[in-house]
Amino acid sequence: MNGPVSIEVLKQHLIDPEICIRCNTCEETCPIDAITHDDNNYVVRADVCNGCMACISPCPTGAIDNWRTVLRAEAYSIDEQLTWDVLPAQGTTAADALRAGQAGGNDAGAGAAAEPAGIEVDTVRGSTVPPWSAAKPYVNLYTHKAPLRATVVGNYRLTEASTESDIHHIVLDFGTTPFPVLEGQSLGILPPGTAPDGRAHHARQYSIASPRDGERKGYNNVSLTVKRVTQDYQGKRVDGVCSNYLCDLKKGDTVEVIGPFGNTFLMPNHADSHLLMICTGTGSAPMRAMTEYRRRRRLKGATGKLMLFFGARTQEELPYFGPLLNLPKDFIDTNFAFSRTPGQPKRYVQDVMRERAADVAQMLRDDSTYIYVCGLKGMEDGVLQALQAIADQHGLAWETLWPKLKRDGRLHLETY
Ligand code: FAD
Repeated sequence: MNGPVSIEVLKQHLIDPEICIRCNTCEETCPIDAITHDDNNYVVRADVCNGCMACISPCPTGAIDNWRTVLRAEAYSIDEQLTWDVLPAQGTTAADALRAGQAGGNDAGAGAAAEPAGIEVDTVRGSTVPPWSAAKPYVNLYTHKAPLRATVVGNYRLTEASTESDIHHIVLDFGTTPFPVLEGQSLGILPPGTAPDGRAHHARQYSIASPRDGERKGYNNVSLTVKRVTQDYQGKRVDGVCSNYLCDLKKGDTVEVIGPFGNTFLMPNHADSHLLMICTGTGSAPMRAMTEYRRRRRLKGATGKLMLFFGARTQEELPYFGPLLNLPKDFIDTNFAFSRTPGQPKRYVQDVMRERAADVAQMLRDDSTYIYVCGLKGMEDGVLQALQAIADQHGLAWETLWPKLKRDGRLHLETY
């Protein structure tokens, strides 16, 4: 006679490779390192995931929210998941037969365990909810399988020709097909061609730099701020696939677009809300979108304050420098930080925030202030430390303020 067979059922957490835009948000968010990736896919280790759900709402596309009921002994390994181009269908294994009885029969939102753990996790550094008054975003209207073709109607270099940093302002027009966006959202670009393994290139994500009513008001277009990648993070010479493709596009060329993405890094809609924006380089894209929307709305009575801290190596490498200088001081309080100006000490955004501590503290004290941080990954620690120092110096205990900001959808971090 055969021995007993294990029938322990697992709701296995999986990531949909067709929708995932490889932004790394889930891997960063996971408090127990259950998520990993290779050049192809992001995957979840079934033996580590505890179903805490911390990764679900930060995912900009919803690719993270996929579950399959399997026998624990037959859980998909990460080696298998790394080879997938599509998720496996829910099978017809013994696990299915047991599904209704043992796992609750609900595909959505369960954890890796048969019963979701529902653990309260507070390891995420920023908000995983939008501001209460943010407009409702559309996400995933266009996918890898059904992308939207947009026409390039503008592409020009933002940084001075004398600098190494080649950042472009690119305007894409959608013609008569709707592509509704909100400030703070992003889209995906499908670069043509294939990767060395013969698979189609995966999509790259770019923040939208224009307001919801168009780069040109009333037009069905968006703008992007794209930096040409010519070196990898170690400084080795590379030609980034998508950034070079985009920066080389000519007016009239067409590109495949997916998205929009993002449902938390959004701006508040109430007129008296304040925006504290901190960015470096192309991290200025969402700040440009929000600032321009507020500029357009200001004419209709928006009263909240705008304060911007913007960092780059030099003034010549800072996108949108000229236009920012033209904005009235009583509309936006702009503060630049340059880290490589010859003959000047290095200044980073966090240094300038500390110099303006009293004004930053005044904003932190106000429950109508919403904070946005976008740009290089390396800036996050410095900015959070500066916020902490400023809060503590001004009697605003950071240890209680920080969780409150996160809970209230008032601290948004997007670094890459
Ligand atoms: P790849 O071919 O993917 O990479 C080539 C090599 O360069 C790899 O080794 C890679 O590790 C390395 N590399 C990739 N990016 C960089 C980098 N920035 N610096 C140094 N080395 C790098 N980019 C923008 O330009 N503007 C945006 O508004 C923008 N918004 C983003 C928003 C989000 C939420 C995320 C996750 C990313 C965003 N990015 C943005 C980055 C963008 O998605 C691409 O990663 C970037 O353009 C590089 O893609 P690539 O195909 O050119 O390089």
